[in-house]
Amino acid sequence: MTTDTLHLDKRQRAMLAEMGVRVWSPMSEAAVMGAPAVETLVVDSSASAPAQVVLQAHAEEAHSFATASELATHALASVADDEQAARRMPPTVAKPVAAPVLIQRPEGIDQMDWPTLHTTVSACQACTLCGSRQNTVFGVGAPASDGQAPQVDWLIVGEAPGENEDLQGEPFVGQAGKLLDNMLAAMKLSRKGVRTPEGGGVYIANVLKCRPPGNRNPKPEEVAQCLPYLERQVALLKPKIILAMGRFAVQALLRDTVPDVDGTPLGKLRGRVHQYHHVPVVVTYHPAYVLRNLPEKAKVWADLCLAMAHTRDDTRDTQG
Ligand code: URA
Repeated sequence: MTTDTLHLDKRQRAMLAEMGVRVWSPMSEAAVMGAPAVETLVVDSSASAPAQVVLQAHAEEAHSFATASELATHALASVADDEQAARRMPPTVAKPVAAPVLIQRPEGIDQMDWPTLHTTVSACQACTLCGSRQNTVFGVGAPASDGQAPQVDWLIVGEAPGENEDLQGEPFVGQAGKLLDNMLAAMKLSRKGVRTPEGGGVYIANVLKCRPPGNRNPKPEEVAQCLPYLERQVALLKPKIILAMGRFAVQALLRDTVPDVDGTPLGKLRGRVHQYHHVPVVVTYHPAYVLRNLPEKAKVWADLCLAMAHTRDDTRDTQG
């Protein structure tokens, strides 16, 4: 028996079946991970229904349509409207797609090489953000040799693409990005600079690879779906240090090592070196927050100095 997020009663299900609408409840990876189950209504085009309707309800996304059960009602109403319309005119116009069809992430992300990971992210339809994005935003950084991840000492992790990033397919290209570029320049680094024998090399990525509509905060289930991509990026990049910028990056990266990370103010996590999968992590404020609170710039500089000192110490340690 599958879990039902649409709250359809027996009669509604029977009506849908009558109209050629299949109710599809995947036992998705999301459900296994504890994320809300996704149930889809699919009008079977081979059935005699007059127009094709594909509607999808996502339990968390449901507020954008009111509630999941209202969505089901809406779905039923749409189909009924279609039937009426079909009696008046030839059934040629397809109904607009109300929400994207979600597809489970492929298996084996933890084994993928860099190009495969990139391609997989570009095609990802594991959460509803795929329906509103213009581009996925995989990341940017030092050039990579064929089939390899870029060689970098630094991984900078932000939250999610905004409007400009979504349009350009590159992270941190807006005002916050300018501030980040200035911070990098102050550290004698740059977003596309190569790693030299003295060190350097930067990669910039986000927790989410797709823009949340209206730049709203990432939802937990979106983070849960997207995090395996960042996890694999970290494993392939093998940075010497990760700079976690802002609350969402910090929470995503330190969930397993900092007790009650969600309830801990970011300021309390600054000033020491944390770990993510054995990679040192330094916590700092998000550049967008700094733009709104300019006096915090000094604290960010202190965090960058801590990170630089740590990479230098690390280099000394590994060189003996
Ligand atoms: N803010 C982020 O966290 N990431 C971006 O790419 C842009 C703005």
